[in-house]
Amino acid sequence: MSPRLKVLSVASEIFPLIKTGGLADVVGALPGALARYGVDVVSLLPLYASIRDKLTLAKTVHLFDRFFGGPARILSARADGLDLFLLDAPHLFDRQGNPYQTSTGREWPDNGLRFAALARAAALIGKGLVPGYQPHIVHCHDWQAGLAPAYLTYDGGPRPKTVMTVHNLAFQGKYPYDTLAQIGLPARSFVYDGVEYFGSIGYLKAGLQFADRITTVSPNYAAEILTPEAGMGLDGLLRARAEVLSGIINGIDTQVWNPREDKALAAPFSLRDVGPRGANKAALQERMGLRADPDALLYGVVTRLSWQKGLDLLLQALPALTASGAQLAVLGAGDADLEAGFRTAAASHPGRFACYFGYDESLAHLIQGGADALLVPSRFEPCGLTQLCALRYGAVPVVSRVGGLADTVIDANEMALNSGVATGIVFQPVTVDGLTAALNRTAALFSRPEEWRRVQANGMKCDVSWAGPARRYADLYLSLLGHETV
Ligand code: ADP
Repeated sequence: MSPRLKVLSVASEIFPLIKTGGLADVVGALPGALARYGVDVVSLLPLYASIRDKLTLAKTVHLFDRFFGGPARILSARADGLDLFLLDAPHLFDRQGNPYQTSTGREWPDNGLRFAALARAAALIGKGLVPGYQPHIVHCHDWQAGLAPAYLTYDGGPRPKTVMTVHNLAFQGKYPYDTLAQIGLPARSFVYDGVEYFGSIGYLKAGLQFADRITTVSPNYAAEILTPEAGMGLDGLLRARAEVLSGIINGIDTQVWNPREDKALAAPFSLRDVGPRGANKAALQERMGLRADPDALLYGVVTRLSWQKGLDLLLQALPALTASGAQLAVLGAGDADLEAGFRTAAASHPGRFACYFGYDESLAHLIQGGADALLVPSRFEPCGLTQLCALRYGAVPVVSRVGGLADTVIDANEMALNSGVATGIVFQPVTVDGLTAALNRTAALFSRPEEWRRVQANGMKCDVSWAGPARRYADLYLSLLGHETV
């Protein structure tokens, strides 16, 4: 039997312990999926106050007298099927609020220090800090882990291979030059081909500069980020490193997202019997305060409320929705202006539009299982997970033609309908007019129930699991170590 490959995965959040977005879903699901391909993943994350109580039998595997300004230790634990290392540094992480912000929504002022500490811990573990554990590969996710490849490089000596995965290029982690000494990087690292980034320290930039391989979460996004329009200041570096960049689409956890056994649904259902979706639609209408109407086209939205997600366009396109007699259920958290916009829309169309502001996992499931269509009008979208959940739950996705949305939904154009391969509505340009046209096309398709059901069934047949993507990551790891594919 060939030895198993050891990967240290480094990220600031992991489902189900702590989640603010898709990143947590991905790093939470990959370890289980990779195990089948001979890869053992241990995930390193900070020990936030909110997860302290969820861990049992954590044991200390390393003690630091002082680490980034205070005492700290590395714990090892197993929780929710995940093997974990936790960076227990109370002065950095033992706080109320989410991983990045205070409870009032302000960035923690020392985020530069906090996530440099995470990356530093990753690099140290990569170099054998924990007795009996030597990973072959350190896999860094997003800017919070981005400095790890830089630390490993500047430390010198033998080091494990590194992979940097970009889940969203919009979040880059840029901190002032003065931070350099505090985070323990040498002065010589502050250069163009080091960690310097437009006069500051770039955490994601550092990862992209020094990682042996770069991946992002869909092939289409991997191509888009090479352009100045989508490259967000990093396209030059990405073009220079294009030969080590690839796109691997995300999957979803098909146990967590399983319409046959989903406790959050009023009625479970399957591809064979989608009938119970009607009961979920009724439950959703009731829970959101929408009019009980089995025939209205009910759109769902499950999202962060941010410019990226194109929800301002949806607010402007609401007349098209009203005109078709449709309903809208929005679950979102984030931008206060967008919240206000949806609150006003809901108030002026009672029973028609409804919103819930906050983070609610079970409502997200009910929306996927009860809405007829799921709207994702993103301006850019590295992969997108909600449309994958929608495919599996029979909510026909209506998405913009960007990033991973374009890679995962097949537009119901004439040819795709005739060939029986359509899975949703895909639109461009990503403008109010583009979205309005898509809403009109969706309403037209919905008015042809047989065709609608075929599109819905095609979506439900898609393999949105981690099996394929995990295999690609395993292949990537092996190729990095000079082995054949799995
Ligand atoms: P992003 O990571 O950009 O926020 P993704 O589509 O990749 O977007 O992932 C979003 C994940 O977070 C999905 O699992 C989605 O169901 C979930 N999600 C987003 N907003 C909410 C919310 N307000 N309540 C519950 N779940 C949410």
